[in-house]
Amino acid sequence: MIAPRSCYRSDATASEREIVQQTIAVIGAGFSGTLLALHLLRRCPPTTSVVLIERNSGFGRGQAYATGNANHLLNVPAGRMSAFRDRPDDFVAWLQRQAGADGTAAPAPGAFISRGLFGNYVRHLLEVERQAPGRGERLLLLQGDVVGLRKHPGSLALLMADGREVPAGLAVLAVGNFPPELPPGADPGAVDRPWYRPDPWAPDTFSELDADAPVLLIGTGLSTVDGVVSLLDAGHRGPIHALSRRGLLPRSHARRADVILPSQVPPLPTALSALTRLVRDQARRRVTQGGSWHAVVDALRPFTQELWQAMAHDEKARFLRHLRPWWDVHRHRMAVPVAERIEAALASGQFRIHVGRIRQIRDEGDGAAVDFRRRADGQEETLTVARIVNCAGPGCDYDRIRDPLVRDLLATGHARPDPFRLGLDITGACAVRAADGAISRRIFAVGPVTKAAFWEMTAVPDIRRQCEALAEHLAAVVAVSPPLAVPAV
Ligand SMILES: Cc1cc2nc3c(=O)[nH]c(=O)nc-3n(C[C@H](O)[C@H](O)[C@H](O)COP(=O)(O)OP(=O)(O)OC[C@H]3O[C@@H](n4cnc5c(N)ncnc54)[C@H](O)[C@@H]3O)c2cc1C
Repeated sequence: MIAPRSCYRSDATASEREIVQQTIAVIGAGFSGTLLALHLLRRCPPTTSVVLIERNSGFGRGQAYATGNANHLLNVPAGRMSAFRDRPDDFVAWLQRQAGADGTAAPAPGAFISRGLFGNYVRHLLEVERQAPGRGERLLLLQGDVVGLRKHPGSLALLMADGREVPAGLAVLAVGNFPPELPPGADPGAVDRPWYRPDPWAPDTFSELDADAPVLLIGTGLSTVDGVVSLLDAGHRGPIHALSRRGLLPRSHARRADVILPSQVPPLPTALSALTRLVRDQARRRVTQGGSWHAVVDALRPFTQELWQAMAHDEKARFLRHLRPWWDVHRHRMAVPVAERIEAALASGQFRIHVGRIRQIRDEGDGAAVDFRRRADGQEETLTVARIVNCAGPGCDYDRIRDPLVRDLLATGHARPDPFRLGLDITGACAVRAADGAISRRIFAVGPVTKAAFWEMTAVPDIRRQCEALAEHLAAVVAVSPPLAVPAV
């Protein structure tokens, strides 16, 4: 479909150039990139092709849905995980068909399904699209690592790690989350020590670990929860420590369903203190009336992006500094069966949460000694462990991310980090801002990378809405004003 480099030759024909200009390259085939590709094929003119590029073999899964552990559950009920907003039952209907074929009972819409199964669903959607007449032949799946991006008059060139160049008219960054930063107090050489693991979900994270050995998980968020589940599943008997500055663990989803409809939500103030007061009051009142605070938090969801965008810069900064940890644990919750296992591990004393700041991590040969200062009394404490797993959550400060594509985008000035260090600086229409603030007309982004512009851009219900809107926008760009006519920025 694509003749690499042909569009940059001085003797390239007009039709060669046009093919390239009608090509949209999507970098990353996790949930965001895959869903965007599907929507682009449905909305763009039949002359438009989509190249979906993924460095791993698992197109459609991304980081979240590649897990092979059936006990790593979705943290959103199945009934809210459809890939399509206008077909809210799609995932549940797919699950029912699967159950019918296997002769097993179909899960209820309120059930928390394994993340690997959701990955199968996304791959199924991709496969259906590849077979769809008129669309499948316009979709190219390309396995490879994009390490750079160049602008040419009228087109872009994506540089691949193996030396290939992929020409395109438009490119969308759907690169997802990056690994957590190195823990404070660890010297950079720690990454090479046998006791350190930078990725909670890698196949070797807990391999060759004595079942009685103490383990430290850095962080107390959902990645840590996954880590504890993996250890328990592997029959780990030794102590499991988790350490974070506040020691806040994600809350459990409600045991009983309670829903507040958008029409029942009172007018929301954008001033942070007034909003916080309102949410606390409403949550208290809901609980007094026999409902759950979860419903109050969930009721904000349709409004959070608007609230974020309406908030003044200083208010956003205050939210991130003081309220974010509290918001995160109430908003991104554990599935009930997972919460029950975590509670049992805490009650038995096998799982312990420490609250403090890491001061130093010392290499002890077959393990590490971690010195930290306790938040409660400022005293120093040391944990000696056989393994440290960094579960500190995704690295978002693009100045510190070592990924080659990110380094290249920043070095060439094609992109810049957002001022809050939540991701890249992106417009409300998902266009990437260059180092000088110019809005790109060729480079766009979807998914967690765009968090600074939307705040809530982590979970499937938000990403699916964003993919739809961006596909609509890009379809209009290629239909009304072909990239040929768009001046390069
Ligand atoms: C462990 C975990 C559990 C989660 N659970 C849920 C849940 O239950 N429900 C929910 O709604 N949300 C959940 N989320 C949120 C999740 O972020 C989104 O649902 C969604 O999966 C994000 O998809 P993505 O495609 O943007 O990112 P990713 O899944 O990170 O995918 C990005 C893809 O891009 C590829 N890539 C990156 N850079 C390049 C490059 N330069 N060249 C080629 N390929 C590249 C990567 O290999 C990767 O496959 C979870 C997230 C995590 C991390």
